[in-house]
This record gives sequence, C-alpha cells and structure tokens, in this order.
Amino acid sequence: MRKVKVTNVQSSWDYERLSEACHKAGCILCRLTGETTRRYLETWKDEMFTDVNVRTTLRSSRGFCHTHTWQLVQMGASLPLAQAYRDIITDEIEQLANDSGKHKQRWFHSKSDDTSSSTAPCPACQQSDQSLARFTSSLRQAISDPTFYTLFLSSHGLCLDHFHLTCTLKPLTTPETWLPLLRTAQLTILQRLNDQLSELIRKYDYRYKNEAPGPEMTAWQTAAALVAGDATPPP
Ligand SMILES: [Zn+2]
Ligand SMILES: [Zn+2]
Repeated sequence: MRKVKVTNVQSSWDYERLSEACHKAGCILCRLTGETTRRYLETWKDEMFTDVNVRTTLRSSRGFCHTHTWQLVQMGASLPLAQAYRDIITDEIEQLANDSGKHKQRWFHSKSDDTSSSTAPCPACQQSDQSLARFTSSLRQAISDPTFYTLFLSSHGLCLDHFHLTCTLKPLTTPETWLPLLRTAQLTILQRLNDQLSELIRKYDYRYKNEAPGPEMTAWQTAAALVAGDATPPP
C-alpha cells in the first residue's frame, strides 16, 4: 500500500476529522456532515439570522426543510425562527391577499405562468451537500494511507447510501488508487457486522440465553444506522 503525503492544509484537517470519526459509533460521513450542518445551524441561530442577505435567501427557500426546521426547534432557536418564519408567513399573506382579487383569472392561466411552486433549496441541506462532497473526496485520499486504512477497518465504516455515493460521486479521479481499498474495507466491516448479528440472533434463542452477552448486543443498532443512515445527532 502506498503511503500518501498529506500536504494540503484542508486535506490534513479533513484527515484528522475522518480519523477521529473512525473512533466513534456510526457512519463516519453521516457523523461529519451532521456535525458540519449542526455548526451551520448554530451559527445561523446565534448570529446569521439577522443578516439581510440570509433573510432573503430563507425567504426564497421558504425557510429550512422539515428536518432542519425541527432540528432548530430542538435547539431552542425561538427568536431566529420567529423572525425568519414571520418573513415567510408575511409573504404568504401578501400573496394570498393579492391573489384573492384575481382568483378567477388564475384558473385560466397556463401552468407555465405559475412560478409560485418553485422554491430555492434549504440552505442547511446545501451546506450538508457541500460538506459531504468534500469529506467524500478526502476519504478517497485518506483510504490509501495505511494508518487510516487500519483505523477505518476498526470503525463502523459507511452507511449503505454513503458507501455507494463515495464509490460513484463525480469527479472519479484515479479510482484505481482508492476504490479497491474502500470496497475491501467495507466488505470486511459488513462481514464482521453480519457475524455479530448472527450471534445476537442465536443468543435470543432460549437455549443459549444464559450465555454472557458480548459486543454483538449493540449490533442491531449498528445495522440500523448502517442501512438507514445515522439518526440526527441529538442537540
Ligand atoms: Zn452515512
Ligand atoms: Zn434541510
């Protein structure tokens, strides 16, 4: 295996973050993108929500998506949400009031005239997508490093969505250097989890119930996170 020189400052920072995530439970990309998105929401809640440009962006996206709106509710973003969502409700009232007078004519408009349903994407989802693309690219570089490869093997690996994304997301630069390593590592991790699940299921049998529990007892949670992606990190 080729030793990779990490010279770029950003790559080095990502390498450290990826390595730290290998020591924690769950998919490392779910964890890192979740942390980045959470920091973005914290900054919005603490500082950005008063910024005129940010308010305009949120008006055009009609707020955050369902997931990020409720994450902010859980984070206690009372004043920021009150202000941002009042903007949106004010717009809606204005549009309804203006439309009510010409309601009948609207029935005769063609579909192409109606732009009210086109909204910009959720800004937090955009942050999450950008962060995911960056960490995916950094992971491809890091996997060729023997130290990181060993760390990755000991981790929970990637959830199924993020594994397939890491294998296919463009640009696919020099896949021959990282794709076989990533596939082998993920296969080893999946086989280990599969063995643990089998052991867990075996111990549920009344004949073996007196056997001491082992690391397989949490395999059901690991499998859930691996198949469906990690739960949103708690506030
Ligand atoms: Zn994931
Ligand atoms: Zn979102």
